[in-house]
Amino acid sequence: MEKKNEMYEGKAKKVFETEDPEVLIVSYKDDATAFNGLKKGSIAGKGVINNRMSNILMAKLEKKGVPTHLIKELSDRETAVKRVKILPLEVIIRNISAGSFAKRYGVEEGIVFKEPTIEFSYKNDDLGDPLMNDYHAVALGLITWDELETVKKYAFIVNDFLKEVWKGCGVTLVDFKIEFGKTSDGTIVLADEISPDTCRLWDSETGEKLDKDRFRRDLGGVEEAYEEVMRRLTESK
Ligand code: UDP
Repeated sequence: MEKKNEMYEGKAKKVFETEDPEVLIVSYKDDATAFNGLKKGSIAGKGVINNRMSNILMAKLEKKGVPTHLIKELSDRETAVKRVKILPLEVIIRNISAGSFAKRYGVEEGIVFKEPTIEFSYKNDDLGDPLMNDYHAVALGLITWDELETVKKYAFIVNDFLKEVWKGCGVTLVDFKIEFGKTSDGTIVLADEISPDTCRLWDSETGEKLDKDRFRRDLGGVEEAYEEVMRRLTESK
């Protein structure tokens, strides 16, 4: 599998075309951004960790009945994935209050919800990824009702699965963001990544933050936190 022309460079990844029109190669960078690109930096070794972690988790999710874009890990930082059209909706699941939820509703972080919540953000950097409800997404033709049903079903399976996996690592899954894409035949698959960039992970004993909030909030020990969760995941396999 060879990289051909670069198709897209995002904040944390580059995407390349290959000789196969249905296959892309994703290359994970160490670059980190937060607050819609306002804060920029680098987290040494993050690309390697996010590539590996995302692939481990997606391979397991396939077995749980969630189709993903994963084809094959090619190297430390590179993975062959199915070419998909990314649905312009970020899907966010929350088990515990934190981040924008705590801010929006004026509540503290750490409220454990009786049931997980789901919400969508419209993927649009110029607008700062505004919150969007189902009806708005369908009205704008971003997704159909049938597709929404599939996305929600998969998102809750992902939550049940990730909660269990992280629990086994002594880590509490607070919330996470996932993205879905559509293959050329219209199949909805889990795409993008699952990593400490996209999940809030708290140490179950101490409550210590082991995710990108260390970068967002200048807490220090960012690299160490990514390495720690990766170590725990690998040892729990
Ligand atoms: N998240 C993400 N990308 C985004 C926004 C959020 O991966 O552009 C993740 C974030 O890491 C957290 C969850 O989605 O695990 C919920 O984030 P929230 O809405 O609280 O926003 P934030 O406080 O990160 O701005």
